[in-house]
Amino acid sequence: MEKIRVTVWNENVHEKEMPEVAAIYPNGIHGAIADFLNRECDIEAGTATLEMPEHGLTKEVLDNTDVLIWWGHCAHDKVADEIVERVHQRVLDGMGLIVLHSGHASKIFHKICGTRSLNLKWRESGDKEILWTVNPGHPIMKGLNDHIVIEHEETYGEHFEIPQPDELVFISWFEGGEVFRSGCTYTRGKGHIFYFQPGHETFPIYHQPEIQKVIVNAVRWAAPAGGPEMKYGHFPERWVK
Ligand code: ZN
Repeated sequence: MEKIRVTVWNENVHEKEMPEVAAIYPNGIHGAIADFLNRECDIEAGTATLEMPEHGLTKEVLDNTDVLIWWGHCAHDKVADEIVERVHQRVLDGMGLIVLHSGHASKIFHKICGTRSLNLKWRESGDKEILWTVNPGHPIMKGLNDHIVIEHEETYGEHFEIPQPDELVFISWFEGGEVFRSGCTYTRGKGHIFYFQPGHETFPIYHQPEIQKVIVNAVRWAAPAGGPEMKYGHFPERWVK
């Protein structure tokens, strides 16, 4: 069986600067995500981080990536435009992209969305969140219940300045009264994109089995479908003579 090749990208800043984050994720958020993905027999996950040459996203790495997972928060502006452009081209060519949590404000998600600044409301009060699915037949929901409870999470609230998603998979309720579109899909070119909100760095959210299951399912959903190579432009010959 051909495995789905995943690259988990993380800016990896909080893990180095905040001991409480390093305690939750001793191998980084990227390491934790790659670990649970690599337990799946059809997935092979590697990692890349901001401080690596070309942020670890060389042409060779991207050419050998079926699905890229993105976690960033405080260093979005340190990501080189040239690398963002390279990632974007690969998405249009069919590479899947899963944008997690504060990756909503990353350069690549801006480029995908085309909206002004990806605004939302937020509060770091560690409130409870319940994600409710609004699309139980979606492949990302395979094997899951109709809701997921996260005991402590950063609150994200509407309005979330995104284009209308192609599909909404989750909406969330937060203890402080906010609601949020927490699982959204898009298609750009041949690429499948999934934005998934959970994952503030000071809570052990990527250790939670249901959250891991959503990400595993999303990898399978976002993997390239293997459709035809498209040819565009001037076609001098008529198809029907
Ligand atoms: Zn956060």
